[in-house]
Amino acid sequence: MDDTSRQLFEKACQLIPGGVNSPVRACHNVDSLPLFIAEAHGCHLKDVDGREYIDFVLSWGPMILGHDDTDVTAAVRAAAGRGTSYGAPCPDEVALAEAVIAALPSLEMVRMVNSGTEATMSALRLARGVTGRNKVLKFVGCYHGHADPFLAAAGSGVATFSIPGTPGVPEAVVADTLLAPYNDLEAVQECFKRHGEELAAVIVEPVAANMGLVLPEAGFLEGLRSLTSQYGSLLIFDEVITGFRAAFGGAQARFGIDPDLTTFGKIIGGGLPVGAFGGKRCYMEQVAPKGAVYQAGTLSGNPLAMAAGLATLGKLARQDYSALETRTRSFAEALRDILQEKGVPIQMPTLASMFCPYFSEKPVRNFDDAKGCNHALFTSFYKQMRAQGIYLAPSGYETGMVSFVHSEEDFSRALEAAHKVSF
Ligand SMILES: *Cc1c(COP(=O)(O)O)cnc(C)c1O
Repeated sequence: MDDTSRQLFEKACQLIPGGVNSPVRACHNVDSLPLFIAEAHGCHLKDVDGREYIDFVLSWGPMILGHDDTDVTAAVRAAAGRGTSYGAPCPDEVALAEAVIAALPSLEMVRMVNSGTEATMSALRLARGVTGRNKVLKFVGCYHGHADPFLAAAGSGVATFSIPGTPGVPEAVVADTLLAPYNDLEAVQECFKRHGEELAAVIVEPVAANMGLVLPEAGFLEGLRSLTSQYGSLLIFDEVITGFRAAFGGAQARFGIDPDLTTFGKIIGGGLPVGAFGGKRCYMEQVAPKGAVYQAGTLSGNPLAMAAGLATLGKLARQDYSALETRTRSFAEALRDILQEKGVPIQMPTLASMFCPYFSEKPVRNFDDAKGCNHALFTSFYKQMRAQGIYLAPSGYETGMVSFVHSEEDFSRALEAAHKVSF
């Protein structure tokens, strides 16, 4: 089985580290080999061996309209016919900036970049530049891309001390990165008491979607907003996943929080490589060339990417997010009930069009809880679902994604497959 995928993967392993261009795709966590995808339409993937899958990964989030959306594909085709990169401004950059700013009340200006990693890296530099402070507080289990300052691991002592999270990151670079557990406002308060005057920013995923799916508890985001304001630190919402997913206006619209800076990626590019950071005019005007904080990109504002983003946001503005949320919730609850009947411990948080099967007795409110889930059960579930044509994220630390084009038939096929799983 999976002959062509297997052959391609073997060859790729000789040519590309681990055979993949981003680690989690290798499916190590679930003791499986990656599938090579030949094409994708709607919420259906076809692999190079001709097998079809219902896609609950959606390229890790961007494809909320489904793959090969008629309007997005047409916009990209048309843009390609006009040339693929100019290294000079193009009209769609202005149009996409206008669309993003209109969607999120906290945004007054925005700068386009090429990935979520660039967005968070640049937002942090800006926060440091405007405050003249170096320290940043992030939460354990939140992912902000692979820039050095965010690849910090918890040392001994909560919220005070961190060590490099990977070889290649100098200790000095993460010495200014403080860590606290998600949903732990007390740890944050403690951190501000000790380091408040040195904190340039707090960066947070307003809904944590890189350790499964952890919802912010009542008061957590509000507490971050008030502490950062009190100490003159910037609050950065990393909405790379939640932007245009938690609601059209992102998690900030959903929870009514007004962050200073916001980062985007994934959906904003409609499946092309795009990220963005934006926020209050007083801060954004300090980005070069208007201001002194340097940030640049050869392909930033790329005409193909802008066209894809613009077509995506234009279409999303007319979609019924609450209907999608209802469909997602009923699917997730049905899935939870099926698994529960099989006698495995299961939690199934959902928010908007995201859902996450955690094999756990108790609700997951931070990274320690996510680590404590039964990952062997997840692996077994993943493998049996994939064998039946249901494509889930290959790790218990990822959220499931639903698109506007998942139909009732897609959901029932996924539930039928779940019925047949045995543990
Ligand atoms: C995916 C992600 C990033 C990184 O984006 P890339 O485009 O992969 O660099 C940053 N923050 C969050 C919350 C993400 O989910």
